[in-house]
Amino acid sequence: MIYLDYAATSPVFPAVLEEMNAVSRDLYANPSSLYCAGYAAKRILQESRAALSRSIGAENDEIVFTSGGTEGNNLALFGVLRAAKRGRHLIVGSTEHHSVLFAAQALKQEGFSLTILPCDSNGRYRPEELSGAIRPDTALVSLQLANNETGVLQPIAEIGAITRARRIPLHCDATAAYGHISIDVRALKIDLLTVSAHKLGGPRGIGFLFVRNEIPIVPLFFGGSQERTLRPGTENLPAIAGFARALSCGYIPASAAARDRLEAELHARFPDARVNGADAPRLPHILSLTIPGVPSERLLPLLSAAGICASARAACAGGERTPSHVLTAMGLNRTQAGETIRFSTGFGNKLSEMDEAANEIVFAARHQIYT
Ligand code: PMP
Repeated sequence: MIYLDYAATSPVFPAVLEEMNAVSRDLYANPSSLYCAGYAAKRILQESRAALSRSIGAENDEIVFTSGGTEGNNLALFGVLRAAKRGRHLIVGSTEHHSVLFAAQALKQEGFSLTILPCDSNGRYRPEELSGAIRPDTALVSLQLANNETGVLQPIAEIGAITRARRIPLHCDATAAYGHISIDVRALKIDLLTVSAHKLGGPRGIGFLFVRNEIPIVPLFFGGSQERTLRPGTENLPAIAGFARALSCGYIPASAAARDRLEAELHARFPDARVNGADAPRLPHILSLTIPGVPSERLLPLLSAAGICASARAACAGGERTPSHVLTAMGLNRTQAGETIRFSTGFGNKLSEMDEAANEIVFAARHQIYT
């Protein structure tokens, strides 16, 4: 099997599994307990929090552990808008993950007002268009750092300069980007940042939301005082420690080389194929390719039979039959969106596998054309 769907989820690093196992076995006490075993658990919690906060240039008390990207995005949007005193207007991008877009729609149902920011044909938001969309009552701007279907990076430094100057909190969904590019929340002027562990060799069901001190936010859940009461509930310590361990496993170089090799191979074999977001800066591990005449819903089962795992769009939207909202926002029509396939590489891939995968993809594409 050649796994080319790291953007959907990644295999867990062996060192992460070992760490989680050791923490589950040896540090089972509740980190809030007032005895030595509890203090030992608390120390791991603090060390993990410190490693994760350092990784984005944040303070330790600006990290709120969550169950992953979906929860982080919902907490950011609902939490900031419900806390906002002077505004009820929200701006989100048209190519955001559904955990942002659908949360925004739900907020609209609650009476908040919503603007969806368009993107250009490369999937990039235009900073000047954002400036024009900001209103006196704008309470939050939520734009992703990078897109999970195309890998396209947004001009977040320019966007952050605009929102900070207007004193509007900026939330970035970094679920696709974190672990693949370096992120400094202070330099980028990001106020809230969503991260999930399972895209970078960490466990599923764990992530964090960075919330800059000074940003007003209210919780979605109520209960204990964990995570400064912003996310009550006994901490998932094995997953948190595994997440921190994944950081040190060195993900980036392998994935870029593999993606570039696959992209070059496929480009050579399908000269009329289009790389979505080709003219924009992109994450090093994602390739979104539209191959004219080759519907992905026919190609994917053939690839699967050949042992190649790839996807047509975000895994969370896997069952949907509507065209990808990301690709249509970029101007692709229904047919083109349906002829698009996403390959995403990672630490388990060997360069030689990319040639093998390209051969199988060409074979499967020809097969579906002639049958
Ligand atoms: N945002 C983006 C950009 C994603 O790719 C994903 C995962 N598909 C999520 C949010 C949701 O993250 P999680 O699976 O950790 O809930």
